[in-house]
Amino acid sequence: MKEVRVRYAPSPTGHLHIGGARTALFNYLFAKHYNGKFIFRLEDTDLERNIPGGEASQLDNLEWLGIIPDESPLNPGPYGPYRQTERLDLYKEYANKLLDLGLAYECYCTPEELEEDRKKQEAEGNFSYRYDRKCLNISEEQKAVYIAEGRKPAIRFKVDETKDYEWNDIVRGHISVPGKDISDWVILKSNGIPTYNFAVVIDDALMKMTHVFRGEEHISNTPKQLMIYEALGLEAPQFGHMTLIVNEERKKLSKRDESIMQFISQYKDEGYLPEAMFNFFALLGWSPDSEDEIFSEEELIKIFDETRLSKSPSMFDKKKLHWIDNQYIQNEDLIKITEMCKPYLEKELPISSKDEEWLTKIIALFKPQLNYCSEIVELVAPFFAQYHLSNEDKDFINELEGKDLLEAISDNFNNLEVFDMENIKKCIKDTGKALNRKGKNLFMPIRLAVSNERHGGDLPTVLELYGKDQVITNIKKTIELL
Ligand code: GLU
Repeated sequence: MKEVRVRYAPSPTGHLHIGGARTALFNYLFAKHYNGKFIFRLEDTDLERNIPGGEASQLDNLEWLGIIPDESPLNPGPYGPYRQTERLDLYKEYANKLLDLGLAYECYCTPEELEEDRKKQEAEGNFSYRYDRKCLNISEEQKAVYIAEGRKPAIRFKVDETKDYEWNDIVRGHISVPGKDISDWVILKSNGIPTYNFAVVIDDALMKMTHVFRGEEHISNTPKQLMIYEALGLEAPQFGHMTLIVNEERKKLSKRDESIMQFISQYKDEGYLPEAMFNFFALLGWSPDSEDEIFSEEELIKIFDETRLSKSPSMFDKKKLHWIDNQYIQNEDLIKITEMCKPYLEKELPISSKDEEWLTKIIALFKPQLNYCSEIVELVAPFFAQYHLSNEDKDFINELEGKDLLEAISDNFNNLEVFDMENIKKCIKDTGKALNRKGKNLFMPIRLAVSNERHGGDLPTVLELYGKDQVITNIKKTIELL
């Protein structure tokens, strides 16, 4: 088999979007599964829409996800250059070839004339505009007039209306589009910039791409691309068009949809683990041949099977993402998670008053429930909150007859020389035994008195983290209120 070569070809018009990341990831998994190459190419010909740093941002975010191209503008292979703006001569060369073959023609129509034509066709009830081939057979005299007027020609491909354009889509199966449904289209604009459907063929062919996996919005482009392969006698890659990503309301994800964070950098900023994101994206439109959901990159490369790419829309399920990220956080080293959580805490809470040991202990307490690292702030915040027992909670403590328990435990805590989890645990147990309290009647008054919260982590650990002074102060404040 020929070496598998696939690519991810973003425009540097924005940062790495979740849709783009998924496209890149499936191409990457496919390449690595077949020991092939994954190429990053930049489609940067829409100069006005390019953003500064767009290329670097795409590459950096891919790298964060663990997707490192074998060839890219920064790491060129034998088929460069890897930015379309550096390949303009090549597009011109191939457009001229099509002119010479009589398969394309110069078109001198101005945008205004074309717009007028469109309106005319619409007035006649024809809403799928077709170029009327006005320039297909223009005379040399007419050409000279246009040139004298300062017009520059675009190059238009002459569509063979008698042909059907067909391919076996890896995801969708057989697709066929009649040539007569496609109007002659511009391959090279009058300013020498190629259109997407032309440039992509020249690039994919010269860069020896064997397969193309991309979003289903490109299905309608594929017939145009097939025409160019055929006209130039080039071998077309195999195409696979992946389904849409939809939100939880099953609506197509739009860039303005605020129900989902849309850019990879946002996940990075919120402290998601890249390995978890990689795992999550692999399951967004693809499923393994088992019920398992947690897979390392290596495992995914091994088991990836392009025939299992989904044919129905893939829902971006935030709960699933949280579950997967939580699994990775649970399995990750405590020191690493502590380091990841620290900047969020430093930014929002006065944790400089605490030492490293305290920090590590509190992260260990919450690590099992963290969905992503920035979430640590809301979990730790109660430890820095002002005393704030509500009337409701005060009544609840009374209902549980908590006053004498709190008095006893405050004395017993006071007598503890080492105020650590083990001693606290034993102290609570002994006090409970002495006063004949257990379960909720024992734990809830203490928890509420100290943290003013009904829920939280393991109580002895929570108390250790508050520290002896704070624990006793808060219990005393509570007793006064009862
Ligand atoms: N730049 C195109 C896009 O981002 C690439 C399309 C393709 O893969 O052919 O949609």
